[in-house]
Amino acid sequence: MANASTATITGSTTPAHSGSQFAQVAFTNGYEFTQGSGYVLPEYPFVPPPELQQGQVGRHPIVIVGGGITGLTLACSLAARGVKAVLLDEDNTVGVKGASSRGICYTQKSLEIFHRLGVFERIAQKGIEWSVGRTFAGDDEVFSFDLKAQGHARLSQQPAFINIQQFYIEGFLVERIAELNASQPSVDMRWQSRVTGFEQCDGFARLQVNTPQGDYALEANYVMDATGSHTPFHAWCQATMDSRRGDDRWCIADVRFRNRPPVERHTWIEAPFNEGRAVWQHLMADEVWRIDYQMEPHADPAYVSREDVVRERLKRQFGDDLDCEIVWVGPYAYKSQCLHRLRIGSVFFMGDTAKVVSPFGARGGNTGISDADNLAWKLAAVVRGQAPEQLLQTYDDERLQAAQENVMVTHRTARFLRPGTPQESLFRRASISLAKRHPFGRLLVNTGRMAVANAYTRSPACAPSAGVSVQNVGFQWSKASRGCLNDLLNWSGEHLLLLVFGPQTPDALQRIRSLTRHAPVRAVQVLAKGEQPQVREHVLDHSGHLRQACQAEGQRWALVRPDGYLSGTGQDWGAGVVRLLERALALA
Ligand SMILES: Cc1cc2nc3c(=O)[nH]c(=O)nc-3n(C[C@H](O)[C@H](O)[C@H](O)COP(=O)(O)OP(=O)(O)OC[C@H]3O[C@@H](n4cnc5c(N)ncnc54)[C@H](O)[C@@H]3O)c2cc1C
Repeated sequence: MANASTATITGSTTPAHSGSQFAQVAFTNGYEFTQGSGYVLPEYPFVPPPELQQGQVGRHPIVIVGGGITGLTLACSLAARGVKAVLLDEDNTVGVKGASSRGICYTQKSLEIFHRLGVFERIAQKGIEWSVGRTFAGDDEVFSFDLKAQGHARLSQQPAFINIQQFYIEGFLVERIAELNASQPSVDMRWQSRVTGFEQCDGFARLQVNTPQGDYALEANYVMDATGSHTPFHAWCQATMDSRRGDDRWCIADVRFRNRPPVERHTWIEAPFNEGRAVWQHLMADEVWRIDYQMEPHADPAYVSREDVVRERLKRQFGDDLDCEIVWVGPYAYKSQCLHRLRIGSVFFMGDTAKVVSPFGARGGNTGISDADNLAWKLAAVVRGQAPEQLLQTYDDERLQAAQENVMVTHRTARFLRPGTPQESLFRRASISLAKRHPFGRLLVNTGRMAVANAYTRSPACAPSAGVSVQNVGFQWSKASRGCLNDLLNWSGEHLLLLVFGPQTPDALQRIRSLTRHAPVRAVQVLAKGEQPQVREHVLDHSGHLRQACQAEGQRWALVRPDGYLSGTGQDWGAGVVRLLERALALA
């Protein structure tokens, strides 16, 4: 192990840590990882905050606790909107306490959000695009998919998935926040600042913060708990939840091969080279392959992550002439957990504090990113007085539904991979056997239902048939340069975006003008081939993709929220559009 190389955040390689990462093994958090890191991560400085320098208790509109992928996405989104916030993280780097290689698969929805925030290009440059997945049972391929061939992935400017180590995205977000702060200081990033105490007061919260230069207190109107699965806020707020933990155990080996396997997601339900247990195989950035091996139930993490044991396992899969370097090893277990409410008093729960899911299907980090995206524009609208407090309740309505769905879906996969009852074992055997012979049987094979943008079917803020994510489709500006929906969303800020399809009567145009003058909404006319613009703000949708993505065939307008979700569509310019606008902003 001493000769292994490690990836740095800048993409070059530096000498490895010693083999000691394998000696210190502990189940440390909800995901339970080896301590120590095989990757070299950036370090951010501690800067004494005004509270320490002036000895006063500061009051802030928004305090984000936790600078993981969720907290950083929220911070970046607020910085992009110029909304003031403080971010507190107990560490001085990205990644979580040695668990530096966790999430790897990022969905189209997450990539669209990152595009809006200005970090997509960095992710695309560093990461690996993939779309083909194959599942094997023994030596037989029982299931395969190509996301590119599936209609729902096609319209967006972003690919279906990119694989990249989670810490890279976190590092890019930190960089981006610094860039945004340079033009308009908004988010105060406070590293090595651990929240150790909490008090819910009347309409605000008081936090105790521990730093290398002493402790201080600060107050916040809104506290965003993004401290991950071991949050102290659950106890502080007496949050109630459903939680279960199984005996399934896994061990990650991040390796670099001399001979590259294919750039496809391969999963084995019953791998002959892993004693009939499951294995995952994916390529990430820096030519590093993530291989996840399912271990025996209750396997000892110290034993399964020993270097000689890891090498032996790799040899069983890749042959005795295996030529690879081991970059990082991490044994893990998982739990499945979902809060009953995502807001308690001043505190909002997001990412892994809202729910914890098994990693199958890449639903943990991706849904944390969507939590942040859902909340950011609502917070901005509320703190700017453009929407009432009530709007924040829709975060709970929408993201709780998403959390429950993700917990349910990933739990089903976990039970398929580690059946808990004789009936589940029988179902799995029957599914595999059917899948080998019949196409319909393949649908029963469940090695992870990949994350999607959750629909908000129960949201009071969206029309019944809406609440779906609108893909980041392309169009042309009138000047023939290309644009995409995200450009329009960035242009409208935390205002809603009214897409007006085709030519309109003078009455309708008058009504649209009045709406945009009196309500937080911006309008754009969307023109099909041959249609003439009637207003200055218009785009050419000759392919019809924008209309299609809004599910607006035969409709005159579509109302899209700043998080790219569809509030609703309609045909007439009567009270319907106003009512929907009021609903979307909780004004009614
Ligand atoms: C093996 C594995 C594979 C996975 N693969 C994927 C995948 O492919 N795609 C995907 O989307 N997800 C994946 N996940 C899940 C994903 O890693 C998590 O869902 C994600 O890290 C959650 O992000 P978070 O920001 O909510 O919390 P965390 O990443 O846990 O971040 C919490 C942050 O809070 C800070 N903190 C904690 N306590 C305090 C405190 N008291 N004061 C101040 N700061 C504090 C920590 O330093 C940390 O920075 C995987 C998980 C595992 C285990």
